[in-house]
Amino acid sequence: MDEKRQKILEAKHIKKYFPIRDALGKQTGVVKAVDDVSITLYKGETYGLVGESGCGKSTLGRSLLRLFPITQGQILLEGEDISTLLPRELRPYREKMQMIFQDPYTSLNPRKSIGDTLEEVLKIHGENNKSARMEKCLEILKMVGLRPEHYYRFPHEFSGGQRQRVGIARAILVNPSFIVCDEPVSALDVSIQAQIINLLGDLQNEKQLTYLFVSHNMSVIRYTSDRVGVMYLGHIVEEGDTDELFSNPCHPYTKALLSAVPKIGVHEKNRIELTGELPSPMNPPSGCVFHTRCPYATGRCREKVPSFHRITSSHFAACCLYDS
Ligand code: SF4
Repeated sequence: MDEKRQKILEAKHIKKYFPIRDALGKQTGVVKAVDDVSITLYKGETYGLVGESGCGKSTLGRSLLRLFPITQGQILLEGEDISTLLPRELRPYREKMQMIFQDPYTSLNPRKSIGDTLEEVLKIHGENNKSARMEKCLEILKMVGLRPEHYYRFPHEFSGGQRQRVGIARAILVNPSFIVCDEPVSALDVSIQAQIINLLGDLQNEKQLTYLFVSHNMSVIRYTSDRVGVMYLGHIVEEGDTDELFSNPCHPYTKALLSAVPKIGVHEKNRIELTGELPSPMNPPSGCVFHTRCPYATGRCREKVPSFHRITSSHFAACCLYDS
Protein backbone atom coordinates (compact mmCIF):
# COMPACT_ATOMS: atom_id res chain seq x y z
CA MET A 1 0.00 0.00 0.00
CA ASP A 2 1.28 3.42 -1.01
CA GLU A 3 2.23 5.20 2.20
CA LYS A 4 1.46 8.55 0.52
CA ARG A 5 -2.24 7.68 0.53
CA GLN A 6 -4.19 9.39 3.26
CA LYS A 7 -4.84 7.23 6.31
CA ILE A 8 -8.45 7.49 7.44
CA LEU A 9 -8.26 5.05 10.29
CA GLU A 10 -5.36 3.39 12.02
CA ALA A 11 -5.96 0.79 14.71
CA LYS A 12 -3.06 -0.63 16.70
CA HIS A 13 -3.13 -3.81 18.79
CA ILE A 14 -6.89 -3.75 19.37
CA LYS A 15 -8.27 -6.14 21.95
CA LYS A 16 -11.92 -6.54 22.82
CA TYR A 17 -12.64 -9.01 25.59
CA PHE A 18 -16.14 -9.56 26.96
CA PRO A 19 -16.36 -10.67 30.60
CA ILE A 20 -18.34 -13.82 31.41
CA ARG A 21 -20.15 -13.71 34.73
CA ASP A 22 -21.96 -16.33 36.80
CA ALA A 23 -25.47 -15.90 38.21
CA LEU A 24 -24.08 -13.89 41.13
CA GLY A 25 -22.29 -11.48 38.83
CA LYS A 26 -18.81 -12.81 39.58
CA GLN A 27 -16.50 -12.82 36.57
CA THR A 28 -15.56 -16.37 35.64
CA GLY A 29 -13.70 -15.76 32.37
CA VAL A 30 -13.50 -13.68 29.20
CA VAL A 31 -14.47 -14.08 25.56
CA LYS A 32 -11.52 -12.91 23.47
CA ALA A 33 -13.58 -11.62 20.53
CA VAL A 34 -10.75 -9.47 19.10
CA ASP A 35 -7.22 -10.24 20.19
CA ASP A 36 -4.40 -7.94 19.13
CA VAL A 37 -5.51 -6.73 15.70
CA SER A 38 -3.75 -3.90 13.87
CA ILE A 39 -5.28 -2.48 10.69
CA THR A 40 -4.91 0.67 8.57
CA LEU A 41 -7.58 1.97 6.19
CA TYR A 42 -6.83 4.50 3.45
CA LYS A 43 -9.07 7.14 1.94
CA GLY A 44 -11.38 5.86 -0.77
CA GLU A 45 -10.59 2.15 -0.38
CA THR A 46 -12.70 -0.84 0.57
CA TYR A 47 -11.05 -3.16 3.06
CA GLY A 48 -12.81 -6.53 3.13
CA LEU A 49 -12.85 -8.40 6.42
CA VAL A 50 -13.69 -12.06 5.93
CA GLY A 51 -13.96 -15.15 8.11
CA GLU A 52 -16.46 -17.64 9.51
CA SER A 53 -19.26 -16.34 11.68
CA GLY A 54 -18.05 -15.97 15.25
CA CYS A 55 -14.47 -15.06 14.24
CA GLY A 56 -14.76 -11.52 15.63
CA LYS A 57 -15.10 -9.48 12.44
CA SER A 58 -18.31 -7.68 13.43
CA THR A 59 -16.91 -6.99 16.89
CA LEU A 60 -13.79 -5.53 15.30
CA GLY A 61 -15.95 -3.28 13.09
CA ARG A 62 -17.94 -2.06 16.08
CA SER A 63 -14.75 -1.59 18.12
CA LEU A 64 -13.27 0.65 15.41
CA LEU A 65 -16.42 2.77 15.52
CA ARG A 66 -16.09 2.89 19.30
CA LEU A 67 -19.66 1.62 19.73
CA PHE A 68 -18.35 0.24 23.01
CA PRO A 69 -15.15 0.65 25.04
CA ILE A 70 -12.22 -1.40 23.77
CA THR A 71 -10.16 -3.50 26.18
CA GLN A 72 -6.79 -2.39 24.84
CA GLY A 73 -5.17 -0.69 21.86
CA GLN A 74 -5.25 2.61 20.03
CA ILE A 75 -7.64 3.91 17.34
CA LEU A 76 -6.70 6.98 15.31
CA LEU A 77 -9.48 8.49 13.20
CA GLU A 78 -7.94 10.93 10.69
CA GLY A 79 -4.97 11.16 13.05
CA GLU A 80 -6.97 11.84 16.22
CA ASP A 81 -6.91 9.36 19.07
CA ILE A 82 -10.46 8.25 19.86
CA SER A 83 -9.50 5.09 21.80
CA THR A 84 -10.52 6.23 25.25
CA LEU A 85 -13.01 9.04 24.59
CA LEU A 86 -16.24 8.97 26.60
CA PRO A 87 -19.56 8.78 24.68
CA ARG A 88 -20.10 12.53 25.10
CA GLU A 89 -16.57 13.28 23.83
CA LEU A 90 -17.11 10.95 20.86
CA ARG A 91 -20.14 12.90 19.60
CA PRO A 92 -18.19 15.21 17.21
CA TYR A 93 -16.51 12.15 15.66
CA ARG A 94 -19.78 10.24 15.15
CA GLU A 95 -20.59 12.05 11.92
CA LYS A 96 -17.26 10.98 10.43
CA MET A 97 -17.88 7.28 11.06
CA GLN A 98 -21.09 5.41 10.41
CA MET A 99 -22.39 1.89 10.08
CA ILE A 100 -24.60 -0.01 7.63
CA PHE A 101 -26.26 -3.03 9.24
CA GLN A 102 -27.11 -6.46 7.82
CA ASP A 103 -30.82 -5.89 8.40
CA PRO A 104 -31.67 -2.23 8.80
CA TYR A 105 -35.25 -3.25 9.68
CA THR A 106 -34.18 -4.10 13.21
CA SER A 107 -32.62 -0.67 13.62
CA LEU A 108 -35.52 1.30 12.06
CA ASN A 109 -38.34 2.41 14.34
CA PRO A 110 -41.50 0.77 12.87
CA ARG A 111 -43.66 3.63 14.17
CA LYS A 112 -41.66 6.35 12.43
CA SER A 113 -41.78 7.30 8.78
CA ILE A 114 -38.49 7.16 6.90
CA GLY A 115 -38.53 10.97 6.72
CA ASP A 116 -38.81 11.27 10.51
CA THR A 117 -36.09 8.65 11.04
CA LEU A 118 -33.67 10.42 8.71
CA GLU A 119 -34.51 13.88 10.04
CA GLU A 120 -33.82 12.71 13.56
CA VAL A 121 -30.21 11.97 12.55
CA LEU A 122 -29.82 15.51 11.22
CA LYS A 123 -31.39 16.95 14.38
CA ILE A 124 -28.92 15.05 16.57
CA HIS A 125 -26.13 16.53 14.48
CA GLY A 126 -27.37 20.07 15.00
CA GLU A 127 -29.58 20.87 11.99
CA ASN A 128 -32.45 22.82 13.57
CA ASN A 129 -34.15 24.05 10.40
CA LYS A 130 -37.03 21.75 9.41
CA SER A 131 -37.12 22.66 5.71
CA ALA A 132 -33.32 22.32 5.41
CA ARG A 133 -33.57 18.88 7.02
CA MET A 134 -36.33 17.80 4.64
CA GLU A 135 -34.45 19.08 1.61
CA LYS A 136 -31.33 17.18 2.65
CA CYS A 137 -33.31 13.96 3.26
CA LEU A 138 -34.98 14.14 -0.16
CA GLU A 139 -31.61 14.73 -1.79
CA ILE A 140 -30.13 11.68 -0.04
CA LEU A 141 -33.15 9.48 -0.85
CA LYS A 142 -32.66 10.31 -4.52
CA MET A 143 -28.95 9.56 -4.22
CA VAL A 144 -29.68 6.02 -2.96
CA GLY A 145 -32.28 5.34 -5.66
CA LEU A 146 -35.47 6.02 -3.67
CA ARG A 147 -38.27 8.40 -4.62
CA PRO A 148 -39.61 11.50 -2.80
CA GLU A 149 -42.81 9.67 -1.78
CA HIS A 150 -40.70 7.17 0.20
CA TYR A 151 -40.05 9.98 2.66
CA TYR A 152 -43.59 9.52 4.03
CA ARG A 153 -43.59 5.71 4.13
CA PHE A 154 -42.95 3.35 7.04
CA PRO A 155 -40.34 0.57 7.25
CA HIS A 156 -42.86 -2.29 6.74
CA GLU A 157 -43.85 -0.80 3.35
CA PHE A 158 -40.35 -1.40 1.94
CA SER A 159 -38.76 -4.48 0.38
CA GLY A 160 -35.47 -5.81 1.79
CA GLY A 161 -33.44 -4.03 -0.89
CA GLN A 162 -35.28 -0.73 -0.36
CA ARG A 163 -34.76 -1.00 3.40
CA GLN A 164 -31.05 -1.43 2.82
CA ARG A 165 -31.15 1.71 0.65
CA VAL A 166 -32.72 3.50 3.63
CA GLY A 167 -29.93 2.11 5.85
CA ILE A 168 -27.36 3.47 3.42
CA ALA A 169 -29.18 6.83 3.24
CA ARG A 170 -29.05 7.08 7.03
CA ALA A 171 -25.33 6.28 7.05
CA ILE A 172 -24.33 8.86 4.43
CA LEU A 173 -26.66 11.61 5.62
CA VAL A 174 -24.03 13.31 7.77
CA ASN A 175 -21.15 13.05 5.26
CA PRO A 176 -18.99 10.42 6.96
CA SER A 177 -15.51 9.56 5.73
CA PHE A 178 -15.50 5.99 7.12
CA ILE A 179 -18.34 3.43 7.05
CA VAL A 180 -18.42 -0.08 8.47
CA CYS A 181 -20.65 -2.17 6.19
CA ASP A 182 -21.55 -5.17 8.35
CA GLU A 183 -22.75 -8.01 6.07
CA PRO A 184 -24.80 -5.43 4.13
CA VAL A 185 -26.02 -7.85 1.45
CA SER A 186 -26.18 -11.18 3.32
CA ALA A 187 -29.91 -10.93 4.03
CA LEU A 188 -30.81 -9.98 0.43
CA ASP A 189 -31.75 -12.02 -2.65
CA VAL A 190 -28.81 -12.54 -4.99
CA SER A 191 -30.44 -10.37 -7.67
CA ILE A 192 -30.70 -7.45 -5.23
CA GLN A 193 -27.19 -7.95 -3.78
CA ALA A 194 -25.54 -6.69 -6.97
CA GLN A 195 -27.70 -3.54 -6.97
CA ILE A 196 -26.72 -2.68 -3.39
CA ILE A 197 -23.04 -3.42 -4.03
CA ASN A 198 -23.12 -1.19 -7.12
CA LEU A 199 -24.84 1.56 -5.15
CA LEU A 200 -22.14 1.39 -2.45
CA GLY A 201 -19.50 1.56 -5.19
CA ASP A 202 -21.09 4.61 -6.84
CA LEU A 203 -21.37 6.44 -3.51
CA GLN A 204 -17.78 5.59 -2.70
CA ASN A 205 -16.56 7.07 -5.97
CA GLU A 206 -18.68 10.16 -5.57
CA LYS A 207 -17.83 10.87 -1.94
CA GLN A 208 -14.40 9.25 -1.60
CA LEU A 209 -15.76 7.01 1.16
CA THR A 210 -13.66 4.45 2.99
CA TYR A 211 -15.41 1.15 3.73
CA LEU A 212 -14.65 -1.67 6.08
CA PHE A 213 -16.72 -4.35 4.35
CA VAL A 214 -17.48 -7.24 6.71
CA SER A 215 -18.67 -10.48 5.10
CA HIS A 216 -18.41 -14.25 5.46
CA ASN A 217 -18.78 -14.54 1.67
CA MET A 218 -15.48 -14.80 -0.23
CA SER A 219 -17.11 -14.05 -3.60
CA VAL A 220 -18.67 -10.83 -2.30
CA ILE A 221 -15.37 -9.79 -0.71
CA ARG A 222 -13.49 -10.45 -3.94
CA TYR A 223 -15.93 -8.35 -5.92
CA THR A 224 -16.11 -5.42 -3.50
CA SER A 225 -12.72 -5.05 -1.85
CA ASP A 226 -9.37 -3.48 -2.75
CA ARG A 227 -7.63 -5.20 0.14
CA VAL A 228 -8.64 -8.12 2.29
CA GLY A 229 -8.01 -9.16 5.89
CA VAL A 230 -8.78 -12.78 6.77
CA MET A 231 -9.85 -13.17 10.37
CA TYR A 232 -9.78 -16.28 12.52
CA LEU A 233 -10.70 -16.48 16.19
CA GLY A 234 -10.05 -12.82 16.95
CA HIS A 235 -6.86 -12.51 14.86
CA ILE A 236 -6.09 -11.31 11.35
CA VAL A 237 -4.11 -14.20 9.91
CA GLU A 238 -3.55 -12.93 6.36
CA GLU A 239 -3.82 -9.56 4.66
CA GLY A 240 -3.21 -8.51 1.09
CA ASP A 241 -4.34 -6.78 -2.07
CA THR A 242 -7.45 -8.62 -3.27
CA ASP A 243 -6.04 -9.94 -6.55
CA GLU A 244 -2.82 -11.04 -4.90
CA LEU A 245 -4.53 -12.76 -1.97
CA PHE A 246 -7.04 -14.59 -4.14
CA SER A 247 -4.46 -15.73 -6.70
CA ASN A 248 -1.82 -16.66 -4.13
CA PRO A 249 -3.45 -17.46 -0.77
CA CYS A 250 -0.71 -18.25 1.76
CA HIS A 251 -2.29 -18.93 5.14
CA PRO A 252 -3.81 -22.44 5.41
CA TYR A 253 -7.06 -20.90 6.73
CA THR A 254 -7.39 -18.63 3.68
CA LYS A 255 -6.77 -21.63 1.44
CA ALA A 256 -9.50 -23.54 3.28
CA LEU A 257 -11.99 -20.68 2.90
CA LEU A 258 -11.23 -20.43 -0.81
CA SER A 259 -11.42 -24.20 -1.29
CA ALA A 260 -15.01 -24.07 -0.06
CA VAL A 261 -16.01 -21.76 -2.96
CA PRO A 262 -15.91 -23.83 -6.18
CA LYS A 263 -16.59 -20.76 -8.37
CA ILE A 264 -13.36 -19.08 -7.30
CA GLY A 265 -11.26 -21.97 -8.58
CA VAL A 266 -8.36 -22.52 -6.19
CA HIS A 267 -5.34 -24.28 -7.63
CA GLU A 268 -5.17 -27.95 -6.59
CA LYS A 269 -2.00 -27.33 -4.53
CA ASN A 270 -3.87 -24.76 -2.45
CA ARG A 271 -6.94 -26.88 -1.79
CA ILE A 272 -7.61 -27.58 1.91
CA GLU A 273 -10.76 -28.98 3.41
CA LEU A 274 -11.77 -27.17 6.56
CA THR A 275 -12.80 -29.69 9.20
CA GLY A 276 -13.92 -29.34 12.81
CA GLU A 277 -15.62 -26.49 14.59
CA LEU A 278 -14.32 -23.02 15.33
CA PRO A 279 -12.79 -23.32 18.85
CA SER A 280 -14.33 -21.26 21.63
CA PRO A 281 -12.94 -17.73 21.98
CA MET A 282 -13.34 -18.29 25.75
CA ASN A 283 -10.57 -20.81 25.61
CA PRO A 284 -8.58 -20.28 22.39
CA PRO A 285 -5.87 -22.79 21.41
CA SER A 286 -2.29 -22.04 22.46
CA GLY A 287 0.36 -20.96 19.91
CA CYS A 288 -1.24 -20.56 16.48
CA VAL A 289 -4.98 -20.37 17.08
CA PHE A 290 -5.60 -22.33 13.85
CA HIS A 291 -3.47 -25.33 14.86
CA THR A 292 -6.45 -27.51 15.91
CA ARG A 293 -7.77 -27.46 12.32
CA CYS A 294 -4.60 -26.99 10.28
CA PRO A 295 -3.34 -29.96 8.22
CA TYR A 296 0.24 -28.60 8.40
CA ALA A 297 0.34 -28.09 12.19
CA THR A 298 3.47 -29.23 14.00
CA GLY A 299 4.43 -29.26 17.68
CA ARG A 300 5.94 -25.85 17.19
CA CYS A 301 2.59 -24.41 16.04
CA ARG A 302 1.03 -25.48 19.34
CA GLU A 303 3.61 -23.50 21.31
CA LYS A 304 4.62 -20.44 19.33
CA VAL A 305 2.34 -17.59 18.22
CA PRO A 306 3.33 -17.08 14.56
CA SER A 307 4.51 -13.63 13.56
CA PHE A 308 3.46 -11.82 10.39
CA HIS A 309 5.60 -12.64 7.37
CA ARG A 310 5.92 -10.41 4.36
CA ILE A 311 5.02 -12.34 1.20
CA THR A 312 5.16 -9.22 -1.01
CA SER A 313 5.13 -5.51 -0.15
CA SER A 314 1.33 -5.66 0.16
CA HIS A 315 0.74 -9.23 1.30
CA PHE A 316 1.31 -10.70 4.77
CA ALA A 317 0.54 -14.00 6.46
CA ALA A 318 0.88 -15.10 10.10
CA CYS A 319 2.07 -18.68 9.72
CA CYS A 320 5.27 -20.44 10.75
CA LEU A 321 5.46 -22.16 7.34
CA TYR A 322 7.09 -18.89 6.20
CA ASP A 323 9.56 -18.69 9.10
CA SER A 324 12.65 -19.67 7.14
FE1 SF4 B 1 -0.94 -24.15 10.40
FE2 SF4 B 1 1.21 -23.90 11.96
FE3 SF4 B 1 0.75 -22.11 10.02
FE4 SF4 B 1 -0.78 -22.17 12.19
S1 SF4 B 1 1.40 -21.66 12.12
S2 SF4 B 1 -1.47 -22.00 10.11
S3 SF4 B 1 -0.88 -24.35 12.61
S4 SF4 B 1 1.22 -24.30 9.77
